[in-house]
Amino acid sequence: MINGKTKTVCLLGSPVEHSFSPMMHNASFQKLGINAKYLAFDVHPSSIEQAVEGVRAFGFLGCNVTIPHKEAVMQHLDEIDPKAERIGAVNTVVNENGRLKGYNTDVDGFIESFKTFHYDFKNKKIAVLGTGGASKAVVVGLLYQGVGEIHIFSRSYDKSSSFCDRIDNSLKAMTYDQLDETFPYDVVVNTTPVGMHPNEGKSVIHVENLGHKETIFYDLIYNPLETEFLRQGRESGRRTLNGLDMLIYQGIYALRYWVDFDHSKWTRDDVIEVLKASHII
Ligand code: NAP
Repeated sequence: MINGKTKTVCLLGSPVEHSFSPMMHNASFQKLGINAKYLAFDVHPSSIEQAVEGVRAFGFLGCNVTIPHKEAVMQHLDEIDPKAERIGAVNTVVNENGRLKGYNTDVDGFIESFKTFHYDFKNKKIAVLGTGGASKAVVVGLLYQGVGEIHIFSRSYDKSSSFCDRIDNSLKAMTYDQLDETFPYDVVVNTTPVGMHPNEGKSVIHVENLGHKETIFYDLIYNPLETEFLRQGRESGRRTLNGLDMLIYQGIYALRYWVDFDHSKWTRDDVIEVLKASHII
């Protein structure tokens, strides 16, 4: 029941109508017995500063931030977590008594999605396809895991090269025509939107002969659940992962920043149930 003690969390983005976050977080508040509501606000870029001030003025617990505000929001916050600073994007803000701190839980979501099968990143060789915002979160997460080598693939060498210069000088800039099928990649991550609408049925690379028999093919896309990239990986007998767990865990990490709760009472499986009940998966 909404009453005078109800707390608010919101999403600042544009567009926001298709976001799964209101459904996931309102379900979590209900299950955990937390008197809070999650609302989605469509905010024009010219109003992002006022929207952030609203989060502070209204005493919201915090907010999520999505396209197109993930970078622009940073200048209006009081503190930025070092990982979010390195990525250059914030997707979660916590209001600590009027002081706003920004985090990037995509990075936590990506790494956590490997923990379910205790993956050891030490010395692994990774290919990351694409140089957008999601790619930065993936790469910063991997750097914190102490991986061996990361190759960044782009359609343009200038882009992959400036990406590497900005994030870490251990990264190697590549273009797709430099992709060597004989290189022993342990993980290949698609961070491009190729494979989702309007590019369903397409893959940015052919994966059948890439890597080795233990290579993991990971696509950040979760709609469709199996992209052409993952289909090729599965049909060549390798392990594949879609972006659903990353989506789920980024939400769980955001929730942990906003409220205290028993983590065993709101898990990945609880979120899966909510998504299934809503016919999303
Ligand atoms: P983005 O900035 O639009 O694109 C990422 C990069 O993909 C671009 O910088 C570009 O790199 C490459 N790219 C774009 N179109 C391409 C094309 N037609 N052919 C080849 N490469 C292309 O997107 P983003 O915000 O980083 O998100 C990327 C994907 O991750 C989306 O599908 C998004 O839904 C998904 N995502 C999932 C989660 C999750 O929780 N699972 C979280 C965030 C994002 P180059 O120009 O360097 O080639």
